[in-house]
Amino acid sequence: MDLLDQITQEAKKAGTFVAEKAIFVKDYAKNTWDAAEIRNKMNDLYKAIGKAVFHAETTEADTAEEINGYIEDLKALDEALKEKTSEKESLVGKKYCPACGKSADKKAAFCPKCGAKL
Ligand SMILES: [Zn+2]
Repeated sequence: MDLLDQITQEAKKAGTFVAEKAIFVKDYAKNTWDAAEIRNKMNDLYKAIGKAVFHAETTEADTAEEINGYIEDLKALDEALKEKTSEKESLVGKKYCPACGKSADKKAAFCPKCGAKL
């Protein structure tokens, strides 16, 4: 059991309000950690693309297929990051606009920045 699970267990014994706050802190921390991990993986792929382009330019090797693979991985990670951002917004009682990334009130039907339907 990790530290956050232990804190949650202890908080449950102390009372519902504290338990809810502990669960929120745990979920928020996990979300932040997951998003950071996704961003790190994306940065590794950006570096790999740069290396592949450099390799192609300096040796005339064909790295197009390799680069396309990295781009496909990046697209999947970008979607995962959007999901994490959306999850984080709902944790703090807000919505995330998938069109522009701005956060909006949970009850908002449209994005306050770009007007997209939420
Ligand atoms: Zn928007």
